[in-house]
Amino acid sequence: MSKKIVAIDMDDTICHLIPKAIHYHNLLYPDLPLTMEQIVSFDLSGIWHPSCSENIFFGRPGLFEELEIFDEYTVEEIRRMTADFDVIIVTAARPASVPEKWNWLQKHLPFIPFENFFVAKRKYLLDFDLLIDDGPHNLIAAKQAGKHTIMIPRPWNAQVQEDFILKDSWDGMTELVRTILA
Ligand SMILES: [Mg+2]
Repeated sequence: MSKKIVAIDMDDTICHLIPKAIHYHNLLYPDLPLTMEQIVSFDLSGIWHPSCSENIFFGRPGLFEELEIFDEYTVEEIRRMTADFDVIIVTAARPASVPEKWNWLQKHLPFIPFENFFVAKRKYLLDFDLLIDDGPHNLIAAKQAGKHTIMIPRPWNAQVQEDFILKDSWDGMTELVRTILA
């Protein structure tokens, strides 16, 4: 029997994108510093500096390669998960950031083969059994399609957290996935 498929998001699920993007925004625009708590949706255009743009905020060369790992448990938990499940990484990436994201994966999770690296903004088109993600749009679509989900709680998904199983740390993630998919 083939293994069940666990899809794992990258940004703000296994690495910290928004804190780093905020850091660079605030260096560029010290007169309008942003905080994590302000990021209550994926549309940041109303809160970043008027001179900022999608390309400035997320398009900084090298940004995705320097992101910090989510926590001290992330690597071992994902490694453990690969023994029982077909673990795929699914990330909505700007085309220019794809090599950076792949480099990041090779550095931190070198046991993930490239055939398990999916660049997809419309994650609902993919077939998987369980999705670990922070994006409410991805999680809601997965749930509506009858798939299992685990939400990484972040300020931008606070509105829908009560509808999902939450996990704020990777500590014990494999066990939780095993329980859900048993
Ligand atoms: Mg994400």
